[in-house]
Amino acid sequence: MADHRILLLGPPGAGKGTQATRLTAEYDLDHITTGDALRQNKEMETEYGTPGEYMDAGELVPDPVVNEIVVAALEDADGFVLDGYPRNLDQAEFLSEETDLDHVVFLDVPEDVLVERLTGRRVCDDCGATYHVEFDRPEEAGVCDECGGELVQREDDTEDTVRERLRVYRENTEPVVEHYREEGTLVEVSGEGAPDDVFERLRDVIEG
Ligand code: ADP
Ligand code: AMP
Repeated sequence: MADHRILLLGPPGAGKGTQATRLTAEYDLDHITTGDALRQNKEMETEYGTPGEYMDAGELVPDPVVNEIVVAALEDADGFVLDGYPRNLDQAEFLSEETDLDHVVFLDVPEDVLVERLTGRRVCDDCGATYHVEFDRPEEAGVCDECGGELVQREDDTEDTVRERLRVYRENTEPVVEHYREEGTLVEVSGEGAPDDVFERLRDVIEG
C-alpha cells in the first residue's frame, strides 16, 4: 500500500489530534504533532526561552524551535499525518522545501463549537489520549481507558487562553489555509458531527 503524506489543518479544537490518531492506526502512518513534541519539552532551554512560556500564554513557539522538531520527525517517517504545523506562512514555506504532501485537508468547525470542545478537553497525563467531559467520556471519570493514567486539563485549555489561541489562529494560521486554497490543493471537510462520521469523510478524501 502506498504511504500517505497527509497534512491536517484546522483551528485549535477542530479534532486534528483525534482524527490523526485514527488515521495513523488505519493507514499505518507516523503521527507528527508539534504540540505533543513541545509539551514533552516545555522546560527545554532555548535561545528564545522555554517553549512552555509561549504555550501557556497561547502564543506560537518561535519558528526555529518548531522547524527543528519537524525536520527530525520527517527524517524518520515514510507516511505521516502532520498535525499542528505549519501554523504561519514562514513555516508553510519551510515545509514545502522539506517534503511533498499527498493530501492537504482542512477540518472546518465553527468557533462556538471550538470553545466548547477545548474547555471540556481532558488528556491522559501518561499516554496523551484525548477525551471530552461531555462528548467523549472515559468509562471511569478521570481515568484513561487506554492505560489507567490520570486525566488532566491542559494548562492552555482555560477559556481566556483558548480565546487567545483562536485569535493567534486567525492572525497567523488562516493565511496558511488560504495559501493551500489558492494553490488548489486544499480539500475542505466538515469537522462537525460524531468523530466516526468525520473519520469516514477523511477516508473518502484519502481513498477518493
Ligand atoms: P485539535 O487537535 O484539533 O486541537 P482534538 O482532537 O484534541 O483537537 O479535539 C478537541 C476536543 O474535542 C477533545 O476533547 C476531543 O475529545 C473533542 N472532539 C474531537 N472531535 C470531536 C467531534 N467530532 N465531536 C465532538 N467532540 C470532539
Ligand atoms: P496544539 O497541541 O497543536 O494545540 O499546540 C499547543 C501549543 O503549542 C500552541 O498553542 C503553541 O504554543 C505551540 N505550538 C504547537 N505547534 C506549533 C507550531 N507549529 N508553531 C508554533 N507553536 C506551536
